[in-house]
Amino acid sequence: MGTAKRSTKKQQASTTGRLPDPGTIRRHVEDAYATCRDDHGGQVADYIPGLAQTPADLFGICFAAVDGQVYEQGDVEVPFSIQSISKPFVYALVCEAVGHTEARERLGVNGTGLPFDSVMAVELHEERTMNPLVNAGAIATTSLVPGDTVEDKWQLVLRGLSRFAGRDLELDEEILASESESNRRNRGIAHLLRGYDQLYFDPDGTTEVYTRQCSIAVTVHDLAIMAATLADGGVNPVTGERVVDAGTSRRVLAVMATAGMYERSGDWLYEVGLPGKSGVSGGIVTVSPGKGGLGTFSPPLDDAGNSVRGQRATRELSERLGLNLFASGEPIVDGDMDDPR
Ligand code: GLN
Repeated sequence: MGTAKRSTKKQQASTTGRLPDPGTIRRHVEDAYATCRDDHGGQVADYIPGLAQTPADLFGICFAAVDGQVYEQGDVEVPFSIQSISKPFVYALVCEAVGHTEARERLGVNGTGLPFDSVMAVELHEERTMNPLVNAGAIATTSLVPGDTVEDKWQLVLRGLSRFAGRDLELDEEILASESESNRRNRGIAHLLRGYDQLYFDPDGTTEVYTRQCSIAVTVHDLAIMAATLADGGVNPVTGERVVDAGTSRRVLAVMATAGMYERSGDWLYEVGLPGKSGVSGGIVTVSPGKGGLGTFSPPLDDAGNSVRGQRATRELSERLGLNLFASGEPIVDGDMDDPR
């Protein structure tokens, strides 16, 4: 059992040791920020016109531990649209509503190996939706949100995501207007799924709710709290509210590990070793079960649509804070990032 008393059962039950002390966490968050700030790789997304104007130099990192302590650096209070990061949280709400077994049967939990907005993925696979974290499966997930009208479903999504964040989230109206003008592809996917009998609500109504959920404004601080809620088995570590049950939380993390970074999910798991989810506005959430949640925000993306600085900072913090689920050794505190442990 070691010398230090383990104060809670939670710490004993987590698989890969404990977090470093608060001073060390703070130092590594600051270091990751300083190291990655000058990486100018990637392009700001412009297929949604409203995103194209986002300043490329915005950069924020926030780590929220499951004890509710928050460590943050940079542009942590700048709001941006949540985009695809809404997908795992809406999937969690649907698992709560229909059960994780039915959710998996209807939506799937395997990767597509194709870009997030792929129509070919629907045509190629007989299951049609492969997982809830790429557009086809995410749109089908939204169609399963309880409620008879667009407004009912939307309120459930907005309230649900707000509980994950621990505050009342709001729409970014400008992004919503811009994305509603330009989301013909998503509308097409919704109608295609309907044609295959794999959409469970009206296609245009579903696309409307889906587009709103992607336009919810969050900060990187919100992302960290939302991720920490999944890290804590569904309990928001700041408000203390149980948002979803532990069984749901665990399955959501499994799907994030499989498909959270689109067709780069394998590369991500190989390097970072944690469930994550990115969005085209430049956010990434990463969950370290039993330890905490990490949010990063930096708009320039690689060609798969994942934030360049965010991936780098997360990889670095996963190593330095000892978060990698597959690592059996101590965290690499000051050593070489390519240390093979
Ligand atoms: N709203 C975006 C879309 O549906 C979300 C995509 C993303 O963040 N990868 O195209």
